[in-house]
This record gives sequence, C-alpha cells and structure tokens, in this order.
Amino acid sequence: MDGSLAFPVATPPVPGAAIPIAPGILWLRMKLPFALDHINLWLLEDGPGWTAVDTGFALPETRDAWQQIFAAELGGRRIERVIVTHYHPDHIGLAGWLTEHWQAPLWITEKEWLHARMHSQGGNEDSAALRRDFAHRAGLDADAATIFAERQGNYRRGVPSVPASYHRIGEGTAIEIGGREWRVLIGEGHAPEHACLYCAEGGILIAGDQILPKISPNISVQAYEPDGDPLARYLASLTKLRGALPSDILVLPSHNLPFRGVLTRIDELAAHHHARCAEAVVACARPISAAELMPVLFRRRLDRLQTGFALGEALAHLHYLVGQGEIDRVRGDDGVDRFLCKAA
Ligand SMILES: [Zn+2]
Repeated sequence: MDGSLAFPVATPPVPGAAIPIAPGILWLRMKLPFALDHINLWLLEDGPGWTAVDTGFALPETRDAWQQIFAAELGGRRIERVIVTHYHPDHIGLAGWLTEHWQAPLWITEKEWLHARMHSQGGNEDSAALRRDFAHRAGLDADAATIFAERQGNYRRGVPSVPASYHRIGEGTAIEIGGREWRVLIGEGHAPEHACLYCAEGGILIAGDQILPKISPNISVQAYEPDGDPLARYLASLTKLRGALPSDILVLPSHNLPFRGVLTRIDELAAHHHARCAEAVVACARPISAAELMPVLFRRRLDRLQTGFALGEALAHLHYLVGQGEIDRVRGDDGVDRFLCKAA
C-alpha cells in the first residue's frame, strides 16, 4: 500500500435509502441546506435493535427520509440508542425528534450536550453585540460585522430541540454495540469534546467531522472564547489519533466518502494547517488583521456562511502562531487586532 487514500464505495446512498458499508453497519446520507450539501449517518446493528450515530439537520425532507428508513431498512427492529458525535446542527439536529420517536436515550459527551443545550435554548442570544465586537476586532467592516453577528444566531433552525437528559460518554468509554466493543476517542479543535468511535475488532473508525477525506474540518475561534487556540487543540488531537489508530482501518466520515488511508489523511490535514501557518507568517511581515488574512488563506469566493467560517479559521491560525511565539498581536487605536511577525 502506497499510503494514498482509497474509497471502496464510490456511490453514496440517496436520502431515505441505506447501503451496507461493513458487517452490521448501514450507511445513510441526508441533505444539508449549505454549500456542503450532505451528511453521512450510520446505523449499527445492536442485538434486537439498532444504534444510530448522528441524526441530520432538521429539514422536513430529512424527517421524511428517516421515515423511509424506519419503514424499509430496520427489518422491523427499533432504534434503541442514539449516539451523537458533536453539537453541530447537521449532527444533533434531529436527536430530539429521533429519541422521542423511539423513546431511546441520547449518548453524547458532556461538553457537546451542554453546547447543544446552550445554543438551542438561546443561551447565547444575548451575545449578538459580543459577536459584532468580535468581528470588528478581527477587522471586518460594520456591514460585514452585522452579517456575522446575525448569522450565528441561527442554531435553532437546524436543532429545534435537544433531549433534556443524556447518557455521558467520554475519552476511552467502551460501548458494546452488537457484541463488539467500540471505544470513544475524543477530538478537540473542531468541537469541544467531539466523539470518534473506534472498533478495533472490526477495523472501523466512525470519525465524525474530526477527520474528513476531502475537505479540512473547520477549526474556528469562537466569539464567546475570543482568545481561544483551537488549532493547537486540533493538531494535538491529530497526533493522539495517529498514535491510537492502525493504518489499515476503514474510516466512516460525516462528509464525502468512506475511505482507507487514515494515517496518510491525518498527515495531510496537519501539513495543510502548517502550510497555512507558513502563509500567515509571510503575510504578517506587515501588521495584518484576520479579515485581511482571509483572502490570503482562502482564494476561492466565499458565501456568507463560509465567510464566517473563514474569519474564525483565519483567527485560529493567527492565535496558534501567537501561542507558538512566532507572531505578536497588537490592538490598534481603531480597536482592531493586528498580527506582526516577531522577526519583522
Ligand atoms: Zn461539525
């Protein structure tokens, strides 16, 4: 094996249908209303029932697609447990609906549950002004800052409810599913306590968004943690996962296609961020804001949602470089943070 990625099944299922992707595992796909237009979900045979992993964004057509799955793919068995990898709307969106429909418990990490509850209950709604200040500090003009502030108030559109109680999983938790042991491996940086599920016996990793084959998971500084360094956390998680996983496993990611070549992909993702850091260091030869760095790192045209991601991601690279001691952050008289290479 030359280490390059291999995609054993080239054609994904359509919403409402399922493809067996490994013994006891069904691959589902649901629509997303974004440029990234789909998410993969998984159903694991679990004795007399099923365990679902992730749930989809709360669209009417995704509820319909689930109903088709219930009718045609479950073999008359019930969904008895719902595991969610992390709090983002495409993953936890229909968890409230699914757990209620099947009277099934939600299994999730504590931080992901808390984030989902906070955002779904509007616990962050008072922070529109905070988000506008954050965007201003990052160098966006007033119009762009307002768009940024409003965009992030949308969580409940995709997540109408989050179960009021949960069963906690965390680093190293062993979960028996269908007679096989799955271990929880926590990743940070994309979400606060993202659960990946690894079955050594079957050679399978359900990776969530932590490791994706064709795109780089969004790593963003958040307005509610404006000094955060999520890229340091993400890179540390990649190093941990690299040490925990053998090279020949099948990876089931939340976006794109199932693949083999996990260690190669981990190395590619780390190299991608280090290359962006190198570009950022060059750009910091003169004082530069995160908004000014965006077009350096992202050369394609960005829609509104992507602009928000890109701003958070530009900050993530800058904060990482500050943490590594390569650049300094200076607050200007205009309230904008600018970053400057130490050697400059
Ligand atoms: Zn995510």
